[in-house]
Amino acid sequence: MLTIGLTGGIGSGKSTVAQILGEFGATVLDADKVAHTTYAPGGPAYDAVIAAFGAQVVAPDRTIDRKKLGAIVFGNPERLNKLTSIVWPATRESIRRNVSELRASGAELPIVVEAAILIEANWQSLFDEIWLVRAPREQVVGRIEIQRGLKPSESEARIRAQLSDEERAKHASLVIENNGSLEELRNLLKEVWADVLKRNG
Ligand code: ATP
Repeated sequence: MLTIGLTGGIGSGKSTVAQILGEFGATVLDADKVAHTTYAPGGPAYDAVIAAFGAQVVAPDRTIDRKKLGAIVFGNPERLNKLTSIVWPATRESIRRNVSELRASGAELPIVVEAAILIEANWQSLFDEIWLVRAPREQVVGRIEIQRGLKPSESEARIRAQLSDEERAKHASLVIENNGSLEELRNLLKEVWADVLKRNG
């Protein structure tokens, strides 16, 4: 059965799509959550993150203080690269292991891995299919404003800092256009899901 990588820009609707596919029966993994486990105490990236950024990022309870780490790498491409060069490979390996354990335990329906940075991190080879969630810019900006209270100019700046949808689409086997209501999205996903089950026996 398939392993599907689900990607898309900020506020495109990845989590919403992942949640609906989960309701349809997919097993859903969130790459962000997996990433956090890699630098939890005892995780494969824990020591390397401390070696790279110093004891200042370690909280009294030994966890890595994500706010402090974020402040250190924010706006500094060199430090950000350092962090991603540690965390992305560890996350990739963790996702690969999780997926193979799910298969070994008999998961039969598709596994969906939600990963905003799937293309940037070059994880394509982990997946049988890559699905891109895309929404018109003005809808994304409006949805982020409602969801997180970000001003349109802040959302625009974040969108500009990302890979473009045009670039993402080059790697996608399916594009989910999230340009209508939530009900329309659910109906579209019903069709997509029925099709994927049919295609894969
Ligand atoms: P991020 O990468 O920034 O976490 P995301 O791609 O996971 O975002 P979601 O969190 O799924 O995006 O969606 C962003 C916001 O837009 C949420 O508040 C969600 O409820 C809303 N939303 C998503 N799709 C629709 C839709 N079709 N109609 C109305 N609201 C939507």
